[in-house]
Amino acid sequence: MSGIGEPTDPTRLTARGMARALRAGDLSARELAEAHLDLIERQDGQLHAWLSTDREGALASANGADALIGDARRGANAGDADALAALPPLLGIPVALKDLVLQRGRSATAGSRILEGFISPYDAHITERLREAGAVVLGRTNMDEFAMGSSTEHSAWGPTGNPWDLSRVPGGSSGGSAAAVAAFHTPLAIGTDTGGSIRQPAALTGTVGIKPTYGRVSRYGIVAFASSLDQIGPFGRDTRDAALLLGAIAGRDERDSTSAPIPVPDYAAELPESDDEAAGLLRGARLGLPRQYFVKGMEPGVEARVREAVAALETAGAEVVEVDLPHTDYGLATYYIIAPAEASANLARYDGIRYGRADRGRDVLGDYLATRGAGFGAEVKRRIMLGTYALSAGYYDAYYLKAQKVRTLIKSDFDKAFESVDALVAPTSPTVAFPLGARLDDPVAMYLSDACTLPVNVAGLPGISVPCGFSEDLPVGLQFIGKPWDEGRLFQLGRAYEAITAGADWRAREPSGLSDLPS
Ligand code: GLN
Repeated sequence: MSGIGEPTDPTRLTARGMARALRAGDLSARELAEAHLDLIERQDGQLHAWLSTDREGALASANGADALIGDARRGANAGDADALAALPPLLGIPVALKDLVLQRGRSATAGSRILEGFISPYDAHITERLREAGAVVLGRTNMDEFAMGSSTEHSAWGPTGNPWDLSRVPGGSSGGSAAAVAAFHTPLAIGTDTGGSIRQPAALTGTVGIKPTYGRVSRYGIVAFASSLDQIGPFGRDTRDAALLLGAIAGRDERDSTSAPIPVPDYAAELPESDDEAAGLLRGARLGLPRQYFVKGMEPGVEARVREAVAALETAGAEVVEVDLPHTDYGLATYYIIAPAEASANLARYDGIRYGRADRGRDVLGDYLATRGAGFGAEVKRRIMLGTYALSAGYYDAYYLKAQKVRTLIKSDFDKAFESVDALVAPTSPTVAFPLGARLDDPVAMYLSDACTLPVNVAGLPGISVPCGFSEDLPVGLQFIGKPWDEGRLFQLGRAYEAITAGADWRAREPSGLSDLPS
């Protein structure tokens, strides 16, 4: 064991702790980046959370951060009281990007062979924002192909393990980002959530993940899956870290017409430092518990942890009432018409000419068929077929149009519930992390992993998953769902729940699936 578990190990700090240590001069951004990259090098052979790391780029950003911090410290010593406070919020802090976030001059495969060899000609909006915030991008994380999946097993590059038990999945599709954060390979990571792909892997790895309101974060430069559902969001090991990262990437961007011109609060700064004050946020909070979210097939251990968490929220002063979301049962069917329909349109651009892989056939159509035949995996092909069918003449009204109507009903269920409550509290995933391979041959079982998360995307709402204990020695997630643009309240609820459970034994547990290979 080299360094793991020692209090001085910088990888164990929160992102906020890292920022403080950097500003105090106790740690350099270069040391911080190297500590994480070395840990990744020692462990990722077992975990496979990363598709690539960028030591050179990371160390260059870290050196830049150290220079800025050095200047600010000299300024502070010379009496400029604001010098350190003026530094950007993520200066020198390591971040991982899901492999569908474009970085100019670097590859982005979205977990697919069809993007093999593709080099991004430009930066995603959030890549620019992270650079401005001073973040150090360590590398790119594994994901289900085109973000289609709930286990990261649909990656063309092989599955990722769960740091709590390497024989199990980390969830998906942002499983690489979730596993990397859980394993202390990075304090922060970016994911995307179309039907649950941030919240579900957060639940399965014991991390915090938030899917913001549709339109909160610009999708410019993110490989598209289903454009009316996709949102980008952060992973962290606690709520305040996740809030810090969302604050850095959220906000209007002219290049994504669906990104909203709505002011972004300073999420992290608004969260109380003290546990007492945080717990106080629950007094008088009105929370709805959707009856229909305790779905068939939910594991008893998961249900027990969620109900205990709800009881703890009540004890701390929250008022919890049962609410009905009567169209919940149609969520899955609605999602699996709309998402594949949009995906089939979005994926038409991979033609063997414009991006990445190019196989050659006899003629232009032959090129197209050869590239797509060899480039896409089975799940992606299944979605393209489903989506093309649902959109075809004669079926459009019966499927796509009908699904859009049900989408409105699902949205109005939430609107109605929010007339009497501030937010909803629910399970994130019906089960804990399942064994690798367990759902691979049964697409519907895989799809059911997101029964409690995908209605939130269908309605465009924000949702957060925070850890709430263990079942069968594996993490369980608690979900809070909010009104549009109310991410701030979700962070408050997550922070408050952390505060009231700060002393719980399970909070001290750490993933034990990984052995630290000698360097
Ligand atoms: N598991 C869902 C799907 O496969 C959601 C994925 C996601 O949120 N990207 O479509």
